[in-house]
Amino acid sequence: MNKNTLETLKKYFGYASFREGQERIVNTILSGRDALAIMPTGAGKSICYQLPALMLPGITIVVSPLISLMQDQVKALNAAGIRAAYINSSLTESQISKALNYAAQGAYKIVYVAPERLETWEFGQFAARAEISMVTVDEAHCISQWGQDFRPSYLKIVDFVNRLEPRPILSAFTATATEEVKEDIVCVLGLQNPEIVVTGFDRENLYYRVESIRKKDNFIIEYVEKHAEESGIIYCATRKNVDEVYELLWKRGVPVAKYHAGMDTEARKKSQEDFIYDRLPVIVATNAFGMGIDKSNVRYVIHYNMPQSMENYYQEAGRAGRDGEPPQCILLFSARDVMIDKFLLEHKDFSEVPPEDIEPIRQRDARRLQIMEGYCQTTSCFRNYILTYFGEKVTSPCDNCGNCHREYHEVDMTAEAKAVLDCVSETKGRYGQAVVVGTLLGANRARLKELGTIHYKSYGSLKDLGEKEIKSLIHQMIVEGYLYQTDDQYSVLKIGNKTLAELENATILVKMYEEKEPSRRQQRGSRRRNTDMLTGEGFELFELLRGLRLEIAREEAVPPYIIFSDKTLIDMCVKLPEDRGTMLDVSGVGQAKYEKYGQRFLTAIREYREKQGDMEICETAEEAAGLPEAESQKGTFDRTEYNRAHNRPEGASRTWDAAEDEELKREFGFGMKIAEIARQHDRTYGAIRARLKKQGMIE
Ligand code: ADP
Ligand code: ZN
Repeated sequence: MNKNTLETLKKYFGYASFREGQERIVNTILSGRDALAIMPTGAGKSICYQLPALMLPGITIVVSPLISLMQDQVKALNAAGIRAAYINSSLTESQISKALNYAAQGAYKIVYVAPERLETWEFGQFAARAEISMVTVDEAHCISQWGQDFRPSYLKIVDFVNRLEPRPILSAFTATATEEVKEDIVCVLGLQNPEIVVTGFDRENLYYRVESIRKKDNFIIEYVEKHAEESGIIYCATRKNVDEVYELLWKRGVPVAKYHAGMDTEARKKSQEDFIYDRLPVIVATNAFGMGIDKSNVRYVIHYNMPQSMENYYQEAGRAGRDGEPPQCILLFSARDVMIDKFLLEHKDFSEVPPEDIEPIRQRDARRLQIMEGYCQTTSCFRNYILTYFGEKVTSPCDNCGNCHREYHEVDMTAEAKAVLDCVSETKGRYGQAVVVGTLLGANRARLKELGTIHYKSYGSLKDLGEKEIKSLIHQMIVEGYLYQTDDQYSVLKIGNKTLAELENATILVKMYEEKEPSRRQQRGSRRRNTDMLTGEGFELFELLRGLRLEIAREEAVPPYIIFSDKTLIDMCVKLPEDRGTMLDVSGVGQAKYEKYGQRFLTAIREYREKQGDMEICETAEEAAGLPEAESQKGTFDRTEYNRAHNRPEGASRTWDAAEDEELKREFGFGMKIAEIARQHDRTYGAIRARLKKQGMIE
């Protein structure tokens, strides 16, 4: 292990060790070799090029597709005491000239640019003068026409690199793992004998689940209100959906923002900032939102509609839990969505596409849809489904996803299976599942009369079962090979490759699921939310430090997580640093950040401890394992800030009296919703909840 890289990691970024893959990439680059890193979102790609950039002699040029992404990165780097700048269209011409001049003189170690910039004369002049040690291509999949985010200007990067003398090291980073994209990056970018590092795609802390429901709105309201103090993203397929879900939540008093491409730039920018700065902890958005958002404390990502591909889903869901805490990734699934998606595919506009490409694209789209549908309907481990799709080997179920936690009982349905086979034989494999199920149920439907299945022997033979049970049975029979479902658009059921004789000797067990939400306690061990480890006092201190962080963030006009992440604050609560040395031991506290903020946090911690006297701040691991759930689960939504932003200065700080308490109890007792009570009392949702909690009215 290279002591130097570790020291630099600690000094600038405040981390004591590398994560998987990071060190190999850093060392490859430092040895002068090209590198390609394929790592999932949140795995820590930035450090892989930022760290060597600091240690290499000259400048590193980072090509990045989005302005917001660059600005965020540069802010974070500057906060860590690293000289970095961006050059893009948000600057005026004279600012650009100035920045390039500084850069040429070596004022920055890292310069972020959009790919279009590389082609400009001015940038070329600068590059010819400057000492460029490395060119880093971030979001490198944008170079691939196979990917979803193809950017033609990425193709120009090679020309730019080829003009440089001597040739700098080339490093490329992406979260997209498919073989085509990988090959494109290596070939099109012209990487020379690159070290290719692919780290595990698993994000262990993410909890995946799928809810097959029709009343999605009810689910959303209930979930969001139950997690009122957490930050979350709700993705919808269309702008119209976004508007509707946004309305729905806003009307109920949820502090929510919205984002889609139909809004003007100003409004979008404001929404994004409200969300990033935790002024509005929830955002409803189309998939136009998210690239370049690295807000670390997103606690849930709900998909209101099924995404178009697994790549999309993985990336969007992956925006949750970047800080390593356990978030929920929930996909709301309804058969109607699938129908809409199929319809959209059938009516896709191919007018710009060369005729010979139409069929391959159609097939690719259909396949993507099928894979997503499979995900929504699988009854085995969701995580394994995803990992298998991305080409990883899986062994056992993860025990941290909706399916792994669903309770079920197995029912012997061998006899019923025989009835299903009879029915499918009678259809001669001409009809889909809906017809077969309807026939078995003996349903009174015009369609069945029309097809004549009401005259089958099997008509009504399973009328004692429910539709859901028959579907589960059919699913199981497909899995075991007794039935076969065609892949084409009609998707008919046929007899599979197992014979009736084989069924005679077999037992068909079908899992019947009982849907339920996983309790916090089920997310055991290291997957527990870290703040759960804190005692009441610990939590108070955490809140206090968060307040301090917000104060500093306001002074410096940066998002709070640029100062310190939640994880770092929690680590402070656990380690209770007393001086420089112990503060530098805290994960995420590097030298520059210590110089800037260390004292203020040390003072806050000391004052709190003096006030409190002896106290337990966190449970030991054993205690934690045996204890009931921590009652408080808070994200970093700042209510005071929210009130201020919405001109509700009084709501949060008004005191309570006994009379109001009585009212509260009565109203809650009558079954009024918390949001409703909040409106009546002109108080915030969180305040009412906290009060009810204090009175023991809710858990
Ligand atoms: P990516 O670009 O791969 O999506 P980031 O570079 O944004 O991920 O890193 C995600 C988070 O992980 C950031 O908050 C970052 O500071 C943190 N991180 C990166 N490397 C380490 C490390 N070695 N130890 C602890 N935290 C790390
Ligand atoms: Zn699982």
